[in-house]
Amino acid sequence: MNRIALALDLGGTNLRLAAVGENGTIYSRSRSETPRGSSGDNVIDLIVQLAENCRNGLADPTKVCAIAAAVPATINIEEGILNKLPNLRCLEGVPLREILAKRLGVEAVLENDATAAAIGENWLGASRGVETSICVTLGTGVGGGLVINGDPYRGKDGTAGEVGHICVEPNGHPCGCGSRGCIEQYASATAVIRLAKSAGLAVSSSSEVYDAAIGGDERAVAVFASMGSYLGIGLAGLVNVLNPEMIVLGGGVSAAWDLFAHQVRREVNERAFPEPADRVKIVRAELGDDAGILGAARAVFASVGKGAAN
Ligand SMILES: [Zn+2]
Repeated sequence: MNRIALALDLGGTNLRLAAVGENGTIYSRSRSETPRGSSGDNVIDLIVQLAENCRNGLADPTKVCAIAAAVPATINIEEGILNKLPNLRCLEGVPLREILAKRLGVEAVLENDATAAAIGENWLGASRGVETSICVTLGTGVGGGLVINGDPYRGKDGTAGEVGHICVEPNGHPCGCGSRGCIEQYASATAVIRLAKSAGLAVSSSSEVYDAAIGGDERAVAVFASMGSYLGIGLAGLVNVLNPEMIVLGGGVSAAWDLFAHQVRREVNERAFPEPADRVKIVRAELGDDAGILGAARAVFASVGKGAAN
């Protein structure tokens, strides 16, 4: 077999496309900024154009068997429709699977971006060969994906793995999901900036908070310690529920690993049952920005040609 999949990472900031082989080789790439305040049609036109660029960049474009899209959304898997996209509302309700299949002439698969990252890390990254793992993406928001007994777990409605919306502070900061005190409000880049500002730091990015912490600013150090604590409190519950072998932490904020990972580990050790707490390895992701693209490609190879519903 020598198939190639086009894999899309549909981010709120960038659209990234790659042509990926069945062994994970990336043959060509294309990317563009995500159009802001644009219509859904414009975003779709751009995706199709990038996909065509990617396909035409191949020695043999006929090897492309499908397109897989990792999307920051909950997905109606049966219908291939995007449900909620807080960062790209112009695509809500859009039947993206059918549109991409029709316009590109190949099968299409949609995958939640955090689930795609979990699949990617399990295929070629930190959790290679691991049967049961949780992958948490600490970015603008906090995403989560589950791999259980070697397979991605999506849940009945395709919404499983929303680690970022576990409540860790009952009366805490309001969350975009409608609840309050979610992990996302304490462990995302957005949260790190908010917490740093409320501690009196003049910062506009989580990397500035990181730089301040490395420079010895105790307020910035405390922000990351608190972030690690909240994340660990949430993960301790998941460790008890799922008894995973590994938790993989990725996304931009994971670059601050040395400032928060020990707090995550401490909370897991203090709160989870001893056996699963001892068992679980807590590690950094290895694939960086490519986790979603590679995972989406892996998902498409697993489903296309097998008659899978999605
Ligand atoms: Zn929430």
